[in-house]
Amino acid sequence: MIRRRKQGLLIVISAPSGCGKTTIVNRLVERNPNLHRSVSVTTREPRRGEHHGVDYWFVSESEFLKRKREGDFLEWARVFDHYYGTPLRATREALAAGRDVILAIDIQGARKIRKLLKALYVFIMPPSRVELEKRLRARKSDSKREIEKRLDQARTEMECAKDYDYIVTNRHLEESIDALETIVSEAHLRRPLRTRVRRRGAEVSQK
Ligand code: 5GP
Repeated sequence: MIRRRKQGLLIVISAPSGCGKTTIVNRLVERNPNLHRSVSVTTREPRRGEHHGVDYWFVSESEFLKRKREGDFLEWARVFDHYYGTPLRATREALAAGRDVILAIDIQGARKIRKLLKALYVFIMPPSRVELEKRLRARKSDSKREIEKRLDQARTEMECAKDYDYIVTNRHLEESIDALETIVSEAHLRRPLRTRVRRRGAEVSQK
């Protein structure tokens, strides 16, 4: 169980698509009710089994752009021809309520957050490129073209792993979840950090 401090900790997790990031994050949240997994807004179509408001908030491009203009996102990025954004208000409220917030976002989003807030940055690596390709194909939810795009993107993303505080190589699911849990617990034990951010009148603070 993760040890807590009064103010929530912002945890930013990136990984190439197909690395098991979603499973790791969901399982960590199941184990730790104080963790809040941010539900992103996206313009991509839901995959089989995905639900609106659970996996993502699925919206049209015009709705996304309207919300972006209105400053609703802590960060946003265009990934694989679709928009993705982190809702600012929910993040701010969860942090203020003392909950840790996990953002599972791409490297562009992580870069933007780094300029705004102190957070814990963790990169999840696949055990190998071959394994990543196998996992992407096994998912059977993306077209061949989409898989190729995701593999190309994975190469670029893995080059950015060095910018993160920790790298977890996802060889065995349970071990990866344990590792992430330990990393978060340790971050709570470190000296408190305080960061304040103003973004279009909204404020996110973290201590
Ligand atoms: P997928 O379509 O496979 O669910 O996600 C594609 C990529 O978009 C993944 O790297 C995922 O982490 C990233 N992503 C999901 N939500 C967000 C978000 O709110 N912001 C950013 N920047 N990336 C996101």
